[in-house]
Amino acid sequence: MPAFHIWTLGCQMNRADSLKLAAGLERLGYSEAGDDGASDLIVINTCSVRQHAEDRAYSRLGVLRKRRERGEQFKLAVMGCMVGPKTDELERRFPWVDAWARPQEFDPIIELAGRSDLGRDVSEGEFWTETFGVPEGVTAFVPVVHGCDKFCTFCIVPFRRGRERSRPVAEVLAEVRHLAAHGVREVTLLGQTVEAYGRDLDSDGQAGERPDGRADLATLFEAIERIDGIVRTRFLTSYPRDMTDRIIGAVADLPKVCEHFNLPVQSGDDTVLERMRRGYTLAEYEERVQRIRGRMPHAAIATDVIVGFPGETDEQFANTIALLERLQFDVIHAAAYSERPGTYATRNQPDDVPLEVKKARLQAVEAVHADSASRINRRLIGERVEVLVEREEDGRSTGRTRGGQLVHFAETGLVGELAEVIVDSVTPWSLQGRAADDVALAVV
Ligand code: SF4
Repeated sequence: MPAFHIWTLGCQMNRADSLKLAAGLERLGYSEAGDDGASDLIVINTCSVRQHAEDRAYSRLGVLRKRRERGEQFKLAVMGCMVGPKTDELERRFPWVDAWARPQEFDPIIELAGRSDLGRDVSEGEFWTETFGVPEGVTAFVPVVHGCDKFCTFCIVPFRRGRERSRPVAEVLAEVRHLAAHGVREVTLLGQTVEAYGRDLDSDGQAGERPDGRADLATLFEAIERIDGIVRTRFLTSYPRDMTDRIIGAVADLPKVCEHFNLPVQSGDDTVLERMRRGYTLAEYEERVQRIRGRMPHAAIATDVIVGFPGETDEQFANTIALLERLQFDVIHAAAYSERPGTYATRNQPDDVPLEVKKARLQAVEAVHADSASRINRRLIGERVEVLVEREEDGRSTGRTRGGQLVHFAETGLVGELAEVIVDSVTPWSLQGRAADDVALAVV
């Protein structure tokens, strides 16, 4: 039986794509190899959001080239965000790669795998729509909308992943049922801007309760409430302007949907936001946060920030720090700006903030993050929190709260269960505690 190995870089969307491709290859008769040394087919699933991720892929390609030159026999494919609509330049630079595949467009890899030799035809029927990844634990990611229409000036995603395309409601729900049947207890619905879900779907009458009859993210939340086995639903990443009151209301009202928002702000300064073409003002962003906290005072909110965007002055950066201190986020994902070839910013907005300044700004954001996360976590000392137990090791269990905080506690035999944990101590990054006497809230 031929073997494959997929090496995955980047975000949860890539991890979900890799699981789906793996399931497709297994349907064709391949088996998964633990490492690429034993593989007939090697796939690198790439990320282009940061230069560092691309550099790792280039480095691995160099290693594989040498192995080829030494006479090793394997097929090599590259998929994901490094692969745009045109591959001429990539083919010229990396002639030892056998196939290039854009995100979610697996067919070149299946061709390379030699589907005709294997006697299966994937071009007909419902091969991909009925091919779901096998979960690796009690949590799983489910892409619901691919691509992005927003075109922020710094971002390569719309050029690589294309326009927004929603998966049909029935297909998403079939995948969630499949995951539940394989032991998954928590699903995270994924999209680059996940609230865009449903805008491109036809009105087909099956979709839900919106006046126009079309499905939205809340429609999925409502349907997943009725799927046995699933006890939690999460969603990411949010886009402030797309977050409707209906979606906020569904998060507040539906028991399985976690009060956990990932709402990137990117900058705390209106001039920078405009140059980023983020499509909202600071006041509009803050209004969304207040609306969430108005319905759910204890909702966890994470955000993303880019420091050192072209032209960002000390004063503009100070506005970002002021925003982060004012809104007290649970988590802040900070990154220093780096040029991504092909974006508007790379062509038109010179990368003029010195590296040393970017590093200092990054440290300043990280200090605010540690401070706000500590403050939020300290409030939980002595409290009971609900934890979905994801794994156990060395006599202790690890899981997450509804807000996404990592929790460690001394107890075993609870993987997949909702446990109640009393918090004894905290760091900015995790909670430590002990199982309450009535340890299992629900055996699912
Ligand atoms: S919303 Fe902006 S940052 Fe997010 S994926 Fe789309 S273009 Fe990129």
